[in-house]
Amino acid sequence: MTSPFSPERWAFEITHVLNVVLGAEHFPINVTAVAQEYSAQKFPHDPISRIVADSLPGFDGALYKAPAGKKGWGIFYNNQMRSTGRVNFTLAHEFGHYLLHRLAYPDGIRCGEQDFVQWDSEYGQVEHQANIFAANLLMPLDDFRRLIQPDAVVDLDVISDCAERYRVSLIATVLRWLSYTEKRAVLVVSRDGFILWARSSAKALRTGAFFRTSLGPIAVPVASLAAQGLTAQSLTAERQTARQHDGGIWLPEPVLEMTVLSEQYDFAISLLLLPNDPPPFEDRFGGPFSRFANRRTA
Ligand SMILES: [Zn+2]
Repeated sequence: MTSPFSPERWAFEITHVLNVVLGAEHFPINVTAVAQEYSAQKFPHDPISRIVADSLPGFDGALYKAPAGKKGWGIFYNNQMRSTGRVNFTLAHEFGHYLLHRLAYPDGIRCGEQDFVQWDSEYGQVEHQANIFAANLLMPLDDFRRLIQPDAVVDLDVISDCAERYRVSLIATVLRWLSYTEKRAVLVVSRDGFILWARSSAKALRTGAFFRTSLGPIAVPVASLAAQGLTAQSLTAERQTARQHDGGIWLPEPVLEMTVLSEQYDFAISLLLLPNDPPPFEDRFGGPFSRFANRRTA
């Protein structure tokens, strides 16, 4: 009952078709057109026949079977969503459910609000797979890596340009970059002075630079832009500010913090860039900052 293709494989297949039909420069992807045309070609007896905005209180999107007597499937997305990036991601997510899960869920799937908070929480396999598909379809890795090389130094402006190119949210774009960069970097999403969740690049994680939010709330440092922006209203959406911090502020080591507010101004998005070489092991776990580290993760 499960799809023979992985989420990545489905996205790769469709990216290949788009490259052939539209050329490599086919961004942003028109998910509505792609989902309808691709499903009509591939599954002519069971296509996606409708994609519409609808009143879906409490949900971001849904995949429903057509009513009895009609063939195919419908994708619905919440008509209250204001961000085009979020709409696009939702459509791609539901398209992923159609490709991956419609046989296992013949009555369809309703998807709770893809709140940014949930990005880091324990999703069900099914939701996770739909997100993997959406990220791979909207931001193919080969294209992304051409724009930002794995060893390139970035700032939030550069990543914002990518978000614009792919028409997805800044957070989804940063997560995609974190998934392949060779740099040490941490994304921190905070609200009201507390870290909601954080995600480290592979190298940052390996070298001890992470925040363990599962153990309880972690306050953002008082000296950080993330803390000051929300109280002083000095940060505005799209206006990035950067600040270099000494060791012992965000992490035991020095950090370049870049922070913007979300589109709805309700949370702060901070990208922390760390030195390429991590501090010596004893400084990370048992050195002069150990007390600080213990306090932060207690
Ligand atoms: Zn879903």
